[in-house]
Order: sequence, then C-alpha cells, then structure tokens
Amino acid sequence: MSKWPIGVFASIDAGLGVHLEVARELGVPTIQVHAPHAGTRNPAAAAAFLKKCSDAGITITAVFGGFEGESYADIATTAKTVGLVPEVTRAARVQEMKEISDFTKLLGCNTVALHIGFVPEDSASASYKDLITVTRDLLDHIKANGQNLHLETGQESADHLLHFISDVQRDNLFINFDPANMILYGTGEPIAALKKVGHLVRSIHCKDAKWAPVEVRGTGWGQEVPLGDGDVGMENYLRTLLAIGYTGPLTIEREIPQDPVRQKADIGQAVKILTTLREKILGT
Ligand code: MG
Repeated sequence: MSKWPIGVFASIDAGLGVHLEVARELGVPTIQVHAPHAGTRNPAAAAAFLKKCSDAGITITAVFGGFEGESYADIATTAKTVGLVPEVTRAARVQEMKEISDFTKLLGCNTVALHIGFVPEDSASASYKDLITVTRDLLDHIKANGQNLHLETGQESADHLLHFISDVQRDNLFINFDPANMILYGTGEPIAALKKVGHLVRSIHCKDAKWAPVEVRGTGWGQEVPLGDGDVGMENYLRTLLAIGYTGPLTIEREIPQDPVRQKADIGQAVKILTTLREKILGT
C-alpha cells in the first residue's frame, strides 16, 4: 500500500460511520469499520462484506469495537457509559470485544480498536488495577488472533494514556490518534500530544474541531466541524505525522450520521483537502 492512502470511517450496521457505498463513490481505497451488531458478526456476514470491499478495491485497515448503552451526550455521560472503564459492564464488554476480535479475523484484518473509556486517574485504585488485568486478558486473546489493539485518543491526556499503556505491559497495544478528540474533550493541544505519543501511533483519524470556551473546557464539548474549518491545523498535523514516521492511512471521520447528505459532502471535501496536502508534503 502506498504511503498515506486516504481512508474513511465506515459502518456495517452500527456506529457513526458512512455506508460502504459512500467510500466506493468517493473512490477511497481504505476504510476503518465500526463492528456490526452481535447478530451480524458471523462468517456469512463477514464474507459478504469482504466481497463488497474487494469488488470496490477497498482494504479494511481496522475494526472499531463499540457497545450497546454507550452515549456521547455530554462528557460526564461519556465517562459513565463508554468503553471498558464502567465497572458494571466491564466483564461483558471484554467478552464482546473478544468476539469482535474474532469477527475482525474473519475480515482478514489485523487491527482492532476502541475507546477504552476514561481511564481512572488514580493508578493505585482497585478499578484501575482491574482495568489493567482485563486489558491484558483482552490483549492476549487479540494476540492469539494475530492482531494489535489501538486505543482511540481524547479521553485521557497524552501523559495519562502513555502511563496506562506502560502499566499494561503488552507488546500489541498501540494508539489510534484523533487530533479532534483532544480538542473536543479538552485533553490537550493535539500536535504536542501527537509528538509525545508518536512512537505508539499505528493508525489515525483526520477529523477537525473547535475548542470549547475556556470556562467550560474539559467539562463541555468542543464542536466537531468539517475538516479544515477547525483548530487542528491539518497541514501541521500531516507534517507532524511525517516527522514521527507515520505511513498508514489518513482515515477521515465526520460524525454527523443524522445528516448523511452533508456527511458525504464534507467527506468529499476532506478527501480533496487531504489529497492536495498529501501531494504538497510527500511530492507524490
Ligand atoms: Mg476518532
């Protein structure tokens, strides 16, 4: 695969991504996909989806896990409901994530990814220690499938995420870097964060956002906007990716599934912006 192929975040039947059709119509050669619902995680569904991808010349580069009951309504609700962190659903979701890893193997893909949730601040707490234990267990299952796990950024600062990954002590745990999430959650300036975690970045999102007003930053959402209209600074972002040696896909994410017409138009515009920047920076 060439350096920095354009990609888009897509969905099969769950999650906020676009339909495969949109990727095909935009001529995008790679996708990350949100894992489908449990009922459609079977060999027949995997074979059917793979056939559609291969007919369209599209490579699946990562499969994102997601769970029933997750809500991104506001930052507090996100902390309570998202990922493996909430204790009431932790064991069931670890089990489901293993099943998603198995489904990912059926798709011929060696990368699973997820929002693990708001990792507890106190690394001496029982909740943090148990999170380490279950994450190791999950990573061992994923490793047996020949896969790596990429953690989505944003819910922790770069330092806190590095601390957690170091505590897990497994060699198949990496990062899916999303610069807009750092802004949306107010967890740190994205370019500085990327430089800090760069050695662990194995996949990325191209998404843009504007900071929340200073008085509510960290408690209130920033605003997701079309790529190029926000505070990330796309050229600086791509130049930093080059500097850290990142060669993987540039996967566009635009999380407005309630408006599929605008979602497709914004992604089309993002493809143009990234294609131009890619040529400017790489010269190819
Ligand atoms: Mg993202």
